[in-house]
Amino acid sequence: MSIVIKAENLNFSYPETESTPKVDALKNISFEIEEGTFTAILGHNGSGKSTLAKILCMILESQTGSLTIMGKDVNSENITDEEIMDIRKEVGMVFQNPDNQIVATIVEEDVAFGCENLGIPSVEIRERVDNALKEVGMYEYREHPVAKLSGGQKQRVAIAGVIAMRRKCIIFDESTAMLDPIGRKDVLNIIKKLNREHNITVILITHYMNEASMADKILVMNEGRIVASDTPEKIFGDPQKMWDIGLDVPQTTEFLYKLNHYGYSFPITVFDPEAVAEIVSKEFSSVE
Ligand code: ADP
Ligand code: MG
Repeated sequence: MSIVIKAENLNFSYPETESTPKVDALKNISFEIEEGTFTAILGHNGSGKSTLAKILCMILESQTGSLTIMGKDVNSENITDEEIMDIRKEVGMVFQNPDNQIVATIVEEDVAFGCENLGIPSVEIRERVDNALKEVGMYEYREHPVAKLSGGQKQRVAIAGVIAMRRKCIIFDESTAMLDPIGRKDVLNIIKKLNREHNITVILITHYMNEASMADKILVMNEGRIVASDTPEKIFGDPQKMWDIGLDVPQTTEFLYKLNHYGYSFPITVFDPEAVAEIVSKEFSSVE
């Protein structure tokens, strides 16, 4: 499997201004992301997640360290403008606030916007927009004003925009944070489908531990550093380590972990509530 992103000892600081001190937002960040995988990034507010996301989309430039995206060393002095444009075409981002990423009044115009900027012929744009809207379940709304949609629907339109651009890697920066539970579930299902059925490399920044539990791998950030990088089973298998840095674990894990204090030995990294109900009820019904 090929490596899409490889970061080694990346550092980034926001410079001092008249009113704010210098902020070391990223400190010696190293990680690799394989093509077609689903990576979740966890961490407190201010831990550097969005800064990292912006560096990966080339909105910001890392100051030291090496960063290879799609095989290109983006921190090299020899990288051409054309190569940078190519990477920008491959890596897209969906932000937290659905209202901040709407650029047109009508749904289908909004979805087409990114493709128009890429200079794609209009017949092809039409086809890509229709397919992308079907993919996110918003095709019937194609002629609706974006402003009248719910938050979850707006995020689905934003995602349709990145699908239409045929991004190979999409970073979701807390894209479900402002949504109600139904909107969040819809968006998450689309993210999973893009990853599993379309082989799009997904990086999901989230505060929801159950969302992170669906990833292949979790990166935990704290104060600008990556403090853990492993599978959800390994990361959440040691809840105390997460609690020590003030982060949570999925509720199912916390529940099973606490049950084990009463002398049980349940596996604690079961993330599906139905599966938890099953193993717990089996154990209880066997106790006479
Ligand atoms: P997160 O997304 O994990 O909440 P951020 O990457 O937004 O973290 O922020 C990391 C650190 O950088 C924080 O201390 C934040 O205050 C600071 N920071 C973020 N954006 C800017 C900016 N534009 N100028 C100065 N400091 C910033
Ligand atoms: Mg952020």
